[in-house]
Amino acid sequence: MSASFDRILPGATLGVMGGGQLGRMFVHAAQSMGYFTAVLDPDVSSPAGRVSHHHIRADYLDPQGLAQLSAVCDAITTEFENVPAPALAALAKSRPVAPDAAAVGIAQDRAQEKAHFVRCGVPCAPYAVIDSAEALAAVPTELLPGILKTARMGYDGKGQVRVADAATLAAAWAQFKHVTCVLEKMLPLAAECSVIVARGRDGAMVHLPPQRNLHREGILAVTEVYEGNLPLAQMASAVTAAKSIAEGLAYVGVLCVEFFLLQDGALVVNEIAPRPHNSGHYSMDACDVSQFELQVRTLAGLPLVTPRQHSPAIMLNLLGDLWFDANGVRPAAVTAPTAPPWAEVLALPGTHLHLYGKLEAKPGRKMGHLNITGATVEEVRATALQASQLLG
Ligand code: ADP
Ligand code: MG
Repeated sequence: MSASFDRILPGATLGVMGGGQLGRMFVHAAQSMGYFTAVLDPDVSSPAGRVSHHHIRADYLDPQGLAQLSAVCDAITTEFENVPAPALAALAKSRPVAPDAAAVGIAQDRAQEKAHFVRCGVPCAPYAVIDSAEALAAVPTELLPGILKTARMGYDGKGQVRVADAATLAAAWAQFKHVTCVLEKMLPLAAECSVIVARGRDGAMVHLPPQRNLHREGILAVTEVYEGNLPLAQMASAVTAAKSIAEGLAYVGVLCVEFFLLQDGALVVNEIAPRPHNSGHYSMDACDVSQFELQVRTLAGLPLVTPRQHSPAIMLNLLGDLWFDANGVRPAAVTAPTAPPWAEVLALPGTHLHLYGKLEAKPGRKMGHLNITGATVEEVRATALQASQLLG
């Protein structure tokens, strides 16, 4: 039996499992609303741990660490879907936890996630679960060419490989050491988009405007949110689908649902993230309520209001590659002379810099993002182009 959910007002302490950038931005949102915060993360220099009132340095499954978190917090959320679901279940014995272990457990496993989409009647890519030699042998040829994805622990394009035929599929599964995988048919994508919904414990739901996402090498590079960037009819369907997925999980918290828009106009769901999402970062500067404030509100049982976007927005992800010099030489520190030209970028009107306080830049590592707002779409696009040129 989980703890009951009373409204938790400012002055109380909100906790988060995981100390990455999403936890850091949650902590900032909670603190600006007058909450105290606690972060559980083993890393001494975790981005969220360094800005939180309490930082419990423990592994996610360490019973002592979990007891300490529970002792200081009035409610607990998560920022990272690979936080073990049993840790959330353990915390829920003494404190309200949102989202709950069951929802996070489904989002952690591509096979369960896809089964949930099917249950909700939301179309996803045709797929097969590969968990035995028999299942591999039974893969229907119409799923090829496809993408083989490990059922668990994949992110940013890691843990997946494109396979053309039965032989490369078998080799790829062996390369993944025969862990449970999902094979998905390769779909002809026209665009990728995502919808962020927030659902309160009373079942009330609000959403952010759908985001159009551009990936580079499997990592989100750019998110654009403005009228005309996505077809309206499909986006209305995406919002309805995202809400039915949240409803079906009896979800409490912020949920991101990623979709593919296919070349024939069909919309299919790709995956869910049980937390705020990189594609929702534009809401920090372009909406009157950010995805992190929605996370605070859902966790604390505060009223949910529909966020209003007051500016067209483009978000550029800032990856560690930006810190390396032209010869690919690794900088000694993130403050090295090869660091990006922040002053020039910030001289452009409507640029909002968010850096996550990571001490070391690595290629592909998410170091921060730049939100760009402006009076018109043309202005925002022009600024984004100038900023990208400055960033190289
Ligand atoms: P991750 O957890 O790494 O974000 P995704 O399942 O979202 O994994 O896949 C990463 C990217 O790979 C997607 O954003 C998309 O560009 C591409 N992709 C994934 N699945 C398919 C598919 N079935 N057909 C075509 N492209 C795909
Ligand atoms: Mg994805």
